[in-house]
Amino acid sequence: MGGPLALNAPRWTGVFPRLSWDTWGLAEEKMPHDLPKSYDPTAIEDRWAEYWVRENLFAQPTPTLDSPIDGQSFTILLPPPNVTGNLHMGHMFEHAESDILIRWRRMRGDRVLWVPGTDHAGIATQMLVERQVVSEGKTRQQLGREAFVERVWEWRRHYGGAILGQMKRLGASVDWQREYFTMDDNLSIAVREAFARLYEQGLIYRGAYIVNWCPRCQTAISDLEVVYDEHKGHLWEIRYPVVGEDGKDSGEFLTIATTRPETMLGDVAVAVHPEDERYLHLKGKKLRLPLAGREIPIILDEWVSRDFGTGAVKVTPAHDPNDFALGERHHLPSINVMDDTAHINAEGGVYAGLDRYVARKRIVADLEEQGLLAGVKDHTNNIGHCDRCKTVVEPRLSTQWFVKIQPLADKAIAAVKADADGKKAIRFTPEQYEKTYLNWMENIHDWCISRQLWWGHRIPAWHCGVCRKITVARPGASPDPTACSHCGSTQITQETDVLDTWFSSGLLPVSVFGWPNFGARTPGAPGPSHLGTGDGVPDRADFDAFYPTSLLITGFDILFFWVARMIMLGCWFSTDVPMPDGSPRSLADSVPFREVYIHALVRDANREKMSKTKGNVVDPIEVVKQYGTDAVRFTLASMASPGTDIAFNVARTEGYRAFANKIWNAARFLFQNVDRAAEIGITVDPSVLGGMPTAALDAPLEERWIVAELHATAGKVNQSLEEYRFDEAASIIYQFFWGSFCDWYLEIVKLRLDFSETADMAKTKAALTTLVQVFEAALRLLSPIMPFISEELWHAVYDGDPPAKSIALASYLAQNYQSDVSDPRAQFRMILLQDLIRVAREERKNRDIPEKESVPMIIISSSIQEFGTDSNELVQQNSDIIQRLAKISTITFADRRDTASGDLNWRSVGFTEIALVHNKQIDVAAERERLKKEIAQQEKNIANADRQLGNAGFLEKAPAHIVEGLKKQRDEAKRLLDKARGDLDALPE
Ligand SMILES: [Zn+2]
Ligand SMILES: [Zn+2]
Repeated sequence: MGGPLALNAPRWTGVFPRLSWDTWGLAEEKMPHDLPKSYDPTAIEDRWAEYWVRENLFAQPTPTLDSPIDGQSFTILLPPPNVTGNLHMGHMFEHAESDILIRWRRMRGDRVLWVPGTDHAGIATQMLVERQVVSEGKTRQQLGREAFVERVWEWRRHYGGAILGQMKRLGASVDWQREYFTMDDNLSIAVREAFARLYEQGLIYRGAYIVNWCPRCQTAISDLEVVYDEHKGHLWEIRYPVVGEDGKDSGEFLTIATTRPETMLGDVAVAVHPEDERYLHLKGKKLRLPLAGREIPIILDEWVSRDFGTGAVKVTPAHDPNDFALGERHHLPSINVMDDTAHINAEGGVYAGLDRYVARKRIVADLEEQGLLAGVKDHTNNIGHCDRCKTVVEPRLSTQWFVKIQPLADKAIAAVKADADGKKAIRFTPEQYEKTYLNWMENIHDWCISRQLWWGHRIPAWHCGVCRKITVARPGASPDPTACSHCGSTQITQETDVLDTWFSSGLLPVSVFGWPNFGARTPGAPGPSHLGTGDGVPDRADFDAFYPTSLLITGFDILFFWVARMIMLGCWFSTDVPMPDGSPRSLADSVPFREVYIHALVRDANREKMSKTKGNVVDPIEVVKQYGTDAVRFTLASMASPGTDIAFNVARTEGYRAFANKIWNAARFLFQNVDRAAEIGITVDPSVLGGMPTAALDAPLEERWIVAELHATAGKVNQSLEEYRFDEAASIIYQFFWGSFCDWYLEIVKLRLDFSETADMAKTKAALTTLVQVFEAALRLLSPIMPFISEELWHAVYDGDPPAKSIALASYLAQNYQSDVSDPRAQFRMILLQDLIRVAREERKNRDIPEKESVPMIIISSSIQEFGTDSNELVQQNSDIIQRLAKISTITFADRRDTASGDLNWRSVGFTEIALVHNKQIDVAAERERLKKEIAQQEKNIANADRQLGNAGFLEKAPAHIVEGLKKQRDEAKRLLDKARGDLDALPE
């Protein structure tokens, strides 16, 4: 296997070179308190990613009699990436949102399951392997179907699912034991069963219709796989000779207009509007088709637009969907003039063998030479391209398989619309997508499910060589039918087409949980079944436990491709599966998922769509290497406000890496103190950790406050995640950790961590215990968004002996604690204190007080009586905090401003006023210069204002508010001038 394959090798081994899986044994190792000095995400993330997978921490076994379903199930099906895919920023975003919810629910005690897998991606994978075969100088046709398909399997075994490897490294907490591939045997059985049932129900039919044909991929593709682009092309006007009574050309012409002249070789008529007076006299006449010589009729049809071109259109049923419908109405034949590669076939006479565009040129030239080209006009039209290979799609008559979509669509509409009680079986977030979905579903066309590919689920239908009828095999048939079910002939051959990839992925919500082969185990799924033990009862343990899934998180781009089809197929097939208690399944329980969350797009920092051609693609793996997975996840979460695309900016990621660093440093501070405490015999009992911290009524203010803050934060985070407000959750956690915990609480708690000989040991221990408790709880709060650093530090908190294998298995901070411990009085008092300290710090800065210098503070006595808070008492009780955080030497109270002596700058702090006592050392000469300049400037300002205000013409014309503003400016300048003059006079000589 040579060059081209290397490009598709899984990337994570190359990107994250590190220890091999088995040389690393963290579980046995103790995680010590002494963390490395600096936070290095790559050093910790690889290690934990491997540990989580190796320890199989996120497996959700099939429920058994011994471990029946308890608690709420929360199940997410990962949108299966293409087996050929690599992880891009959109994936990382989608996976981060899913993982946050999954981790959060798991910690809340739900029975969570996140199912990973890959899609065989028919066209994409076949194209990729085909290119390899071609690079070796062969074609897939030379290899033959069987050898080619084996070659694709070979490729998949070596390189498939690189994206899942990347997901492992990024810590996605999926159940790896349930990983599936859409071509797995059990999933293929589901595909066959679904096909057979729909066929038997008369909902699958086969016939010749116009399809979108890709000449490169040589297959039909669905309407959804065609992308339209505006193109500047031409409208050719061609003269078709009218045949006279005598069978010879009458000399009259009918001019038609077309954008695709090459298809005229397949014309079978020309149509005009029945009321078009220009052509009434031609009714019943025939035309001679130029270049071909055949006679074709003129038909009348109201569909023809009199305003388009000349009002006469050629009819080519084999190459245009509208013409096809016209042909059906008028019982016209269809002449297909192109082969699978869009070359003209034998029907095209002398043009046979030419590529469609070469033929176009030749035909136009020949028409011109024969004087039949009436004109060429510029014309802009929408041209369809194959979504996969960008080749221009050729609408073409072709025999295909279709799903008669109506009854399926009806159910899929009912599942999303509110029922009589106003309930919806499936809820969309953001809500606007419900309308988009319904609009599409209400206008849906039959679904062309056959593809002329080799890679995929081959259609389980056999054609009989004798009676020509079709035999569709049920999956139970061993292994394929050998005789026609109609006439018994053994001359049967299997259909060569495969099914549209979305046919199998549309079945995933039912098929990954065992439908229809209840009784057989899903390969790799752990645990014996409690029911399928040979007593003849089908095993539906997985289906009963996990269907319907709870939530689908996906992008808008596959709303119709996948989401809509899962709803159609899921509702259709699960209806027959009774509920666990044997009762019939309602529509509400037939849906594949109860909620759909459509996430935003990740764009570049300038809000441009990322694209390879623009070269602005941000590779998530590169950003992760630089800043760590946690910081990237936090960035994505913090920007995920509903309905708004994300403008991904690494500057923010850098900021969140600094946030992680802050937490790391907080942990180091904490561990240093834990170790120092241990030296004098103070230890924190690990059994007090793991729950929601509480504070005693007589605990110091900061303790009661931080506990109350933690509870309030937990309440808000839970609420935000409940509503998919990842941005709010991230912002609340950030504010708590950085602001409340690090900036305030840690600074204050330093006062309490007294390890001296005179220390009150009980107080020190109480302070240390609360500190560790709050930090441990905050790590659990953070864990769903930043799983790696929280895991590392959590193990360190327990000194390598944690109560569970992972913080992901610890419990989340619960919602209802908030009301139990809410402490509005502590929160109110702390706000007053913070306000005072903030103003004092600002005042120090304004007055250039050197950082190391402590200064006296004077406070005006005041008392406000909210929550029983007396401000004097507040200051007195917490004077140590004020002194430490604002660098204050002494605090004295004054009754009124004028009772305090000296030149003081009074500042309002909300509940009172404060002043710092500080005699600024100044450079008198420099200050004199500055004041002189200031005086000159203000004099100039006043003069300017006076001039304008003295101008009668100006005053007449200027709007009142301008004049008013000017007066204010003058007053301001006057005030500043007086102050500067006063200051100058006060300067010592
Ligand atoms: Zn194509
Ligand atoms: Zn037969």
